[in-house]
Amino acid sequence: MNRTRRPLIAGNWKMNHGGASACGLAAEVAKRTREFDAVDVLVAPPFTALAAVAHELDGKRVDVAAQNLHPKDNGAFTGEVSAPMILESGAKWVIIGHSERRQLFGESDVAVSEKVAAAQAKGLRPIACIGETLQQREQGKTLAVVGWQPERFVKTFAEKPGYGVIAYEPVWAIGTGRVATTEQAQEVHAAIRERLAQISPELAEKTLILYGGSVKGSNAAGLLGEADVDGALVGGAALDAGDFAAIAGAAQALSAKLR
Ligand code: PEP
Repeated sequence: MNRTRRPLIAGNWKMNHGGASACGLAAEVAKRTREFDAVDVLVAPPFTALAAVAHELDGKRVDVAAQNLHPKDNGAFTGEVSAPMILESGAKWVIIGHSERRQLFGESDVAVSEKVAAAQAKGLRPIACIGETLQQREQGKTLAVVGWQPERFVKTFAEKPGYGVIAYEPVWAIGTGRVATTEQAQEVHAAIRERLAQISPELAEKTLILYGGSVKGSNAAGLLGEADVDGALVGGAALDAGDFAAIAGAAQALSAKLR
């Protein structure tokens, strides 16, 4: 963590919690994090719960994100949801290019960059996910992968430094209980920031780079203590308000100490 960037803890609920149970979890997260003034917190429920959760969180410290979007505003795209629709639901953020979308739904770097551009143009803050597979790590390709994956969307990020967020999520650490070591996370985050610095020092300084992959209350402080880790994108532990609040609490404590 670094004094110039306010940390962000984001909970990706994936395909869990529609309607009433989503509102209950959101209310509990808001309650447990309401004293945290040095960290931003958001939750990403499924599309069907977005409006209800945004309504539940209205006036509270917790923001709402969608988990995907279609880059076009409207049209014959059965099953898809656009940026204006997400904004109308009350969400301000959108997660783009999660490894599950890339692996299970064939989302390419080109599609990710189109979605990032559409989100930013419409006023939805993008959280763009990147990360290597286990095979790529074992082949020593990690830094190359996190170098090429953002190639197309960083140009959009550069138009508005600090607006878009990158989530580094090693695929082998997502939902597996296998977390990157603090050194592994810092090495990759620093390389990503270095790449941003080649575009502009302002982009490197202002862009939040979150770590994601089996983050829990028990390992959050170590990861967030690294200089280039600006927060976390949390999956499994975000479904438990207590564990999620413990992660946000670790960010709050570190951030408050730096201020
Ligand atoms: C995620 O899905 O973005 C994620 C990081 O999941 P988990 O925390 O469960 O590994």
